[in-house]
Parts: sequence; C-alpha cells; structure tokens
Amino acid sequence: MTDFSSIRREFPILNQDIHGHPLVYLDSAATAQKPMAVVEAEQKFYTTINAGVHRGAHELAARSTMAFEEARGKVAALVGASAEEGNEEIVVTSGATAGLNLLAAAFGYASMGRGGKAAQRFAIHKGDNIVVSRAEHHSVLLPFQELAARTGAELRWFDLEEDGRIRSQDAQSIIDERARVVAVTHVSNTTGAITDVAPIVKRAHEVGAIMVLDACQSVPHIPVDVHALDVDFAVWSAHKMYGPTGVGFLYGKRGLLEALHPANFGGSMVELAWMDQPAQYMMPPARFEAGTQPVAQVVAAGVAAEWMMHIGMDAIASHEQVLTQELLKLGTIDGVRILGPTNAENRIGTVAFEVQGVHPHDVGQYLDAQGIAIRVGHHCAQPVHRHFGVYASNRASSGIYNTVDDAATLVEAVSGIRSFFG
Ligand code: PLP
Repeated sequence: MTDFSSIRREFPILNQDIHGHPLVYLDSAATAQKPMAVVEAEQKFYTTINAGVHRGAHELAARSTMAFEEARGKVAALVGASAEEGNEEIVVTSGATAGLNLLAAAFGYASMGRGGKAAQRFAIHKGDNIVVSRAEHHSVLLPFQELAARTGAELRWFDLEEDGRIRSQDAQSIIDERARVVAVTHVSNTTGAITDVAPIVKRAHEVGAIMVLDACQSVPHIPVDVHALDVDFAVWSAHKMYGPTGVGFLYGKRGLLEALHPANFGGSMVELAWMDQPAQYMMPPARFEAGTQPVAQVVAAGVAAEWMMHIGMDAIASHEQVLTQELLKLGTIDGVRILGPTNAENRIGTVAFEVQGVHPHDVGQYLDAQGIAIRVGHHCAQPVHRHFGVYASNRASSGIYNTVDDAATLVEAVSGIRSFFG
C-alpha cells in the first residue's frame, strides 16, 4: 500500500497557514505543487553541471547533454514512448500550448507546400475539415481555429452530452473523408471527464486524418500509453505533472516527426544553413527544438516523471479516485450544481461547480479566507461553460498530495456559502 501521507510531506509548500488556516490546495489542474526531489534536481543541476546542451566540447556540456537526454527518456517512459537514439518520439517544448501551436504552424507550412512530399500528409486545403470538440481548452481550439482560417478548411466539433462528456459515438458522422486533423482533449480541464478516445482515433485513421491528443490533464492523473492509444501526436505540460513551469512535451510517432516541417527556426536545429540555398534541418527531435533549451527544468521534469513512475500511475489514479468521490459530494449540497459527470467513473478529481446565486469570484474569495485554494473563472474553456449555460465556474482539482480531509474541508466550506451570501 502506498503511503500517501508520507508523499504529502515531500511538498513543503503545503505545510503552511493561509489567512490563519492550514492551506488546502485544490488547484492542481492549474499547476501542481513540486516535491522536493524536483526542487532539488533543479538546484543540483545549477550547482553541478549547468551548461548548454549539444554544443560544447567541454565536460560540463557533455554532462548536461546526458542529463537532458536522460530526462527525455524518463518522460518517454512515463507515457510509453520511445527515446532510443535515432527513434526519439519526444520533443521538448515550453508547454502544451507551445506544442499545439507548433503542430498547427507545422501543418500550416505543409499546407503552403513546405517540407517536400513527405510533409504533404499534413497539408490542409479549402474544403478539408479540422475537427475539435466543444470541451477543448483554448490552447487546442484557437491554434486549430486559426489554422482552419488560414487554410480555408472548415472547423467542425464534437458536441457534448448533458454532463459535458465528449460524444465520441458521433465519430462516424463528425469525422468524414475530408477530415485532415482531429484534435481532442484526453481529459477536460473543466468537467474532469476522460474522453473515450478509441472510436475517435479509429475513425480519424480510417479517413487518413492526423490524430492529436491534448494529454495535459491525463498524464498527471491516470496511466497514459501513447502507443496503446495509437494517437499520432500528444502534448502535455511538465508543471501539471509535478515538474517545473516553462517546459512541456510533444509526443509524435517517429515517422510523422521525420516528415513534419519545423515550425520554430534558429540555432541547434539546422544541419546546413546558407545565404542562397534553403537550410537543411536536423532530424527530430532537434529539428523542433530551436534555441537554447530550459535544460535545468527539463532535467527536473525528468525527475518528476521518474518520481511518478516510482509511486506508480495505477496507485496515483486509485488515490485520486477516492478524492474524486469525496469532491463529488459537492453535488449533494443544496443549490450546488456540478458541471461534469457526477459519477466518479471515467473522470478525474477536477470538479467544476456552480453555487447558485453566488458569483464564482465571491466563492473563490470566501474559500480563500479559509485557506482553501481553488480556481474560479472560465478555465480557458469558454465553449464548455456556454454548454452549461454559465460564463464562469468554480473548480476544485486534486493532486497526489491531497487527502480526503482536504476534500471534506472544501465540501463543508461550500455548504456554508449560500447562507453566508444570503
Ligand atoms: N490543455 C488543457 C486541458 C489544460 O488544462 C491546459 C492548461 O491549463 C492546457 C492545455 C495548456 O497548458 P499550458 O498552459 O501549460 O501550456
């Protein structure tokens, strides 16, 4: 049995009072707290081997390069991808948003005829479709909406069940022969629902579309195997998986990464550059990693991945399942509506809710006064909020360090809100 109370002690930030109350941190969907192993990894990097990677002839450069590539390996292992030399499937980005913009930009270059014949499989033209869902974070919706506008493609989307689940069963009709890209979230950052991606992936591949998965909210909470899911690309951020900010990862099937034209240009990604001839770009992943990388943060993200694997993704998911059940008790409070599935199955402990008659901002402040940190607003997912007929909501989201007491403290506090605001 995993001892989650001892794991919690690895997060010193949680051991403090806020406004005279013990901190209850329920905002991990925004960003997760960091265990000491991650904090120390960054410090150790700077105090022992700090140097630019892939460039220097000196020993520190060699060591930092090795640490950087080892981190890539650890992150790959977390999601079942390969980081073997020559078969690397993980690209370092500055976050999920950057990964999604990279893909949309690279598909845009292919649409302009760049990247030669191999890149043409990513080309999008007038009359083609790009498919997303109404549950997407703006980081998925907007890059692909812009790509549709740029290429003249039609933007289509999966609609949602009443409880906010993506209607994967509509894959056959939404994804037609003209679909070129399908991009959906694995887990909604608002409803917490886990998408049934299998029928979407199957249909996307049937019609030859590229399948992109936003794994931002799944990688930290449930086992994710990108090969088993058979997605073509996946993105996520290190800071939500107990790693540092400023770093994210893009998974791509090796053959696709090799065919994809780069989207960011500069140092460290080019084999040959000329004044009067087109540049010859490096093989992936370097081709997509232009400029100086945040090496210390990547190394620390690798430590975060290793740390999670050591605890075990199944153990993490079971622990959070218990927290989810407790958080869902919010729905039993008079005047409180959960925006998402009310059953703990196939969902994570990210629970958005509305307190009737009380503005989310007031809810947030009321809870903050009691040391409880949640997020209020539209969580960068306005369309899903419109689906529920609201502009904003309150969102509690669990992490590995939360206890049932944390969830119960929130439920107890929320039950007093409506009478407080009269
Ligand atoms: N997708 C989802 C589902 C998210 O929850 C987030 C972050 O909130 C993002 C994408 C964007 O991640 P980042 O802001 O780390 O780039």
